Amino acid sequence: MSIASNIQEVRAYIPSNVKLVCVSKFHPNESVLQAYEAGERIFGESKVQELSHKQEELPKDISWHFIGHLQTNKVKYIVPFVSLIHGVDSFRLLSEINKQALKAGRRVNCLLQMHIAEEETKFGFDEGELTAMLRSEEMKGLTGVNICGLMGMATFTDDREQVRNEFRRLKGVFDRIQAEFFAGKTDFSELSMGMSDDYRIAIEEGSTMVRIGTTIFGHREY
Ligand SMILES: *Cc1c(COP(=O)(O)O)cnc(C)c1O
Repeated sequence: MSIASNIQEVRAYIPSNVKLVCVSKFHPNESVLQAYEAGERIFGESKVQELSHKQEELPKDISWHFIGHLQTNKVKYIVPFVSLIHGVDSFRLLSEINKQALKAGRRVNCLLQMHIAEEETKFGFDEGELTAMLRSEEMKGLTGVNICGLMGMATFTDDREQVRNEFRRLKGVFDRIQAEFFAGKTDFSELSMGMSDDYRIAIEEGSTMVRIGTTIFGHREY
């Protein structure tokens, strides 16, 4: 199967109000270009160095999303060009993004990552931590970041009902946070959930942004 036909298949399940992030991590520039030629403009990467190289080498009208675990000491390398950072999982990271964004004269779009999975290995805030952070005084000073919504990853399991319940819970938190902290503001509008194995469930549960790698580009070689 070609990348173009994989995209066509995936696109058939994605409503027009849901954004597709093509996750190109560990795939070469030629693969990104094939997806680009098929019309895709949003690409997701999880390593700072790989993202920086691709951004330099590939067409300038690509929106690059950072979807991995971001270390504070590497924030400065991507802030000048990144369109959206999906996995903000601490105040410390948010505050570093803010600092580098102000330096670069930008406002950087961010999603706060919620921990919804059973696995301890996945990053993110729980609901209490998220609410406490958003209520805190120190949040008010962060003019270099634009909080656009939430992101989460379901448990890696064959139990579809469990996955659905985790996404449903995340959507519930999203609605509550939106009502409490972002009422009347249009910026807080994105719910990034759903990957190759679970994006259809995620869309049914209210995702506005799916992050799909393997189904489009094939298996990654690490
Ligand atoms: C790698 C990755 C994806 C894509 O996963 P696939 O199963 O290949 O679609 C999505 N989101 C995050 C955070 C990832 O790290």
